[in-house]
Amino acid sequence: MILTVDVGTTSLKLVVFQDTKSLYMGECPLPTYQVDGNSYQRAEDWWDAFKEAIAALQAEAPDLLASVDTFCSTGQMQDCLLVDTQGNPISEVLLYSDGRAKKQFQFISEHYGADKLQTAAVNQPDALLSVAKYLWFKEHRSEQFNQDHLLLLGAKDFINLRLTGKSYTDYTNASTTGFLDMRTNQWNQGLMKCLELDETRLPKLAAATDVIGVVADSTAAELGLPKGMTVINGAGDVGASTLGAGAFAAGDVYCYLGTTGWLACPAAETARTPEIYTLRQIDGMSYILAGAVLNAGKPLEWFLTHIAMEESVDSQVYSHYESKATEVAAGCQGLLFLPFLEGERSPMKVDRNRGGFVNLGTDSNRWQLYRAILEGVGFSLKHNLEAMLGGKSVSKLNLIGGGSRSTLWPQILSDILDAEVHVLDMDVGAPSLGAALIALKAGGQVADFSDLARFFTASRHCLPVPENVTRYGEAYGNYLRHVDALHKPDR
Ligand code: ADP
Repeated sequence: MILTVDVGTTSLKLVVFQDTKSLYMGECPLPTYQVDGNSYQRAEDWWDAFKEAIAALQAEAPDLLASVDTFCSTGQMQDCLLVDTQGNPISEVLLYSDGRAKKQFQFISEHYGADKLQTAAVNQPDALLSVAKYLWFKEHRSEQFNQDHLLLLGAKDFINLRLTGKSYTDYTNASTTGFLDMRTNQWNQGLMKCLELDETRLPKLAAATDVIGVVADSTAAELGLPKGMTVINGAGDVGASTLGAGAFAAGDVYCYLGTTGWLACPAAETARTPEIYTLRQIDGMSYILAGAVLNAGKPLEWFLTHIAMEESVDSQVYSHYESKATEVAAGCQGLLFLPFLEGERSPMKVDRNRGGFVNLGTDSNRWQLYRAILEGVGFSLKHNLEAMLGGKSVSKLNLIGGGSRSTLWPQILSDILDAEVHVLDMDVGAPSLGAALIALKAGGQVADFSDLARFFTASRHCLPVPENVTRYGEAYGNYLRHVDALHKPDR
């Protein structure tokens, strides 16, 4: 029996699996704190949520908990956290989205070189890198920094450390920190030397499927975990989600449509353009390419709440708007939505919050606006897909996330991307399922991940409708022209 934990930003999810079948699910919310315009989390909260979730499992299904023999976790990546040598947190957790280390990033750019860092880390460097946040700690948490400490770079690594006393991370998680030299798959020693940082503070690098130890007897007794439970390294959430979305082979594209979203696929080569993220695949050998959008379900929530003035946004509201929007013809008669309400990350960086409707008329109504939003997000995903695959097309992709609950949106995506969209039949989150698959591979129950493809079934298949594909092809050209105009530097 496999116990998985996904330490997300909003909650910790615990799932017990027998092979790929989930038998129990638990969830504990996680608080985020605000100070001086920055938000942070506390690793103690992660641990408390973990303990609470285990206690609930013990209360509800003690026999199931007793039969767990393997633990595998996943979670948010690109964190920065200091712990003492016993694994006790001595700093707050700076989250992946925390931009406070701008001055420190400037320092790295001047002393080590932004170009040099990009060559080693592959991705375009910025102030969000964990290495910049670590320098921020050096300056602003000097007392903790100067004591004997370990630096942790991902949420699941903290849970693993507390369970086993060992500090490890995986290649996917290491990819977005700035510390990894992706050419050698080692920590970037030149960077560490230049910044006068001590490499021994960093976690050890290992494949996601490596066993890092067993739960310490005292911890097992304290939490009620089975004695001797094997702890697998696990993977950062992008690595686990990719597996959990059934994307195993190079070119298997999947789309996560949540509040934010991404398109990703395993790949043999790094991305051709810096606007697409390159991460190490969970075995540290090949890659995962990802185009991440800040605006997926978010613009829908904005529209329903602030423009349509719906009091609450629930599944009934979505299905009402959807049934009306289904009657609007594809392309909304030229009405176009540019979805950059939250700025954007890929395939171009938009620092300011700007989006918009183009071609509004006195005959425009809310159902058209709603459909235009679904289409505008679809165009933005197509833009990412083109950048990710260098213009090559895909014939099919798997779809996961809250947006896949929509009946209309997957069809719109299919028509815009001119690809079959398979809405996966999932009862647990993709990261949790991915963690279970990692444990199965680690335990030798599966020889190759691709053997697991048969377990992935779609609840719906959307096929591109030729007439709509043509119409959206024209509308996409229009979208690109407006995106270009919107982002002219003088605007
Ligand atoms: P998160 O990304 O926050 O972890 P989810 O994967 O559950 O969470 O996705 C939430 C998003 O899904 C919301 O932004 C919401 O707009 C979108 N969503 C949920 N149901 C529907 C629906 N029926 N139609 C369109 N979008 C939906």
